[in-house]
Amino acid sequence: MSDDPETARQIAELSHDARPLLVLDVDEVVLDFVDPFSRFLNSQGFELLTDSFRIHGNIVALESREAVSSEAVSALMTGFFDVHDAWQTVASDAVATLDSLAPRAEIVLLTAMPHRHRAVRRGLLDRLSLPYPLVSTEAAKGPAVRRIRGSTPRPVAFIDDIPRNLESVAASVPDAKLFHMMSHAGFRALLPPLPTGVVALENWRDAGPRIAAALGLSQNS
Ligand SMILES: [Mg+2]
Repeated sequence: MSDDPETARQIAELSHDARPLLVLDVDEVVLDFVDPFSRFLNSQGFELLTDSFRIHGNIVALESREAVSSEAVSALMTGFFDVHDAWQTVASDAVATLDSLAPRAEIVLLTAMPHRHRAVRRGLLDRLSLPYPLVSTEAAKGPAVRRIRGSTPRPVAFIDDIPRNLESVAASVPDAKLFHMMSHAGFRALLPPLPTGVVALENWRDAGPRIAAALGLSQNS
């Protein structure tokens, strides 16, 4: 898949850091998504079923219990992202763990969402004490991570909840250390087996030392 030119523009504005690189997905990694989206849906008269690993097909009307159409699901997701800063919460222990890694690594947040939501998300991340640069993309994540790394052959670690994003980074940055994290335990239990080479992280407390080791960082900041 080709690069996203707006993503490339955003990456060009980064600081050209040469330290080891940690790239993090946002939804279900540093921010909770499933629970806040569920609460938003309830406020709109819908419910998200979490007995299978998908969003489309799993949203039902509260009263009729009928699944809503794919188009309606997309509209509800767009509606959520328009106001997501009023709903989303930070994943437990993410702030403290990233604070401890930040002096020793470049941390970049890479979110797959329409670029027009980026400014609202930036404001939310700042309010939640996650001041790290935010890059949005409407294309595959692998080429974006390769571009963020730049020409320095520095260590790269990448964390995401969606297997296809991990596979995309594996294809574009073959030496990247790949981690899976998903803050919603119910959905996590329903996941298919992770792609080869991907290490599962339980939570942010567990993640700190494993990321530090993957990036070759000295212990203790
Ligand atoms: Mg995600």
